Amino acid sequence: MADHAILSASGAHRWLACTPSARFELQFPKSTSAYAEEGTLAHSVAELTTRFYLGEIDENAYEDKLAELSKSSYFNEEMLEHAESYAKFIVERLAEAKKVCADPVVILESRLDFSKYVPGGFGTGDCLIIAEPVLDVIDYKYGKGHRVEAQDNPQMQLYGLGALAEFESLYDIQTVRMTIFQPRLSGVCDSAEKSVKELKSWGTKTVKPRAKLADKGEGDFAPSEEACRFCRAKAQCKARTDKNLSLFDESPDPLTITAEEAGAILAKADDIEGWLKDLRELVSAALTAGEEVAGWKMVEGRSNRRFADEDQVVEAMKAAGYDEALLYKRKLITLTKMEKDFGKKTIAEVLKDLIVKPKGAPTLAPEKDKRPAYQFEEQVLAAFDEGA
Ligand code: SF4
Repeated sequence: MADHAILSASGAHRWLACTPSARFELQFPKSTSAYAEEGTLAHSVAELTTRFYLGEIDENAYEDKLAELSKSSYFNEEMLEHAESYAKFIVERLAEAKKVCADPVVILESRLDFSKYVPGGFGTGDCLIIAEPVLDVIDYKYGKGHRVEAQDNPQMQLYGLGALAEFESLYDIQTVRMTIFQPRLSGVCDSAEKSVKELKSWGTKTVKPRAKLADKGEGDFAPSEEACRFCRAKAQCKARTDKNLSLFDESPDPLTITAEEAGAILAKADDIEGWLKDLRELVSAALTAGEEVAGWKMVEGRSNRRFADEDQVVEAMKAAGYDEALLYKRKLITLTKMEKDFGKKTIAEVLKDLIVKPKGAPTLAPEKDKRPAYQFEEQVLAAFDEGA
């Protein structure tokens, strides 16, 4: 059983790149976060809502279960709205599938066994739609800190292989379409397709040998921003430390560096900020636990003055002769809070002409970033002049 968790689909981007990581990280504690608990609840709400939309359960069963789930402190209107948009998306995909296939099959929360490629490998697929010749694998992601892309996504591809192992003997499947539905980020869903042949070839030529190494804890450590981000060893891993320290070996000659050279350093140092944050957390945790770390101590952080009792403040100011109206400032709650309190749909309807999105300030991004390059005013004018 332990093997199942070791080579997980969600960790495949890590152990495929850094094969020793899967066994190496077992010595470090697994942390659970509020985000993970929120995500688990969001998945349950999305699954329930989809079953209702698909007619698998009736309204009473839906309401009863929803009432139970909504007791959680993580539940809110926003979570329900996202679940509804996911459920609608599944219904739409199914309707699309019906146009090309007389009897498509939809399966929620299915166990996908990809142990043919990964020792003990299995996962849970949020939604499969089988409409010959296409198999749709859909994953609901509730996180909003990190955009997950479908193209070449190992977790999705392993789910695809698991789904093929289960269903290809029953259906004529030629293509696997993998879709990430991430409602809290703009763009919401991202899809990528692979032919069955391509997917199986990846499974046999890439996954199988890498998984074999990973299962034995063998191979070379391969630190990278992507691989190390959620690794349990991230703060104490020597390979990551060595890689990041090696970036400082070069000394500039002559005595200043150019923007070109700074860009080259930044491109190599994409893991540095995350690594320093992980080191700070490690040292803070040690000091908080009473250990000594040479050169470091915990101090009291900054805090702001505040009123001990607001009602008493108002009374005191009134007694001192100040008008109560002068003590208050009327301020609208933020758009995000309004959407959370009254629902995104309501706000979109009521305020549709009153919400604007100003152009964002220019931000540095690596070349591979999917967003188009910022158009500075001079560039737009120059392009206009050239075209004139
Ligand atoms: S921290 Fe990075 S390099 Fe170290 S084991 Fe984890 S993934 Fe590999």
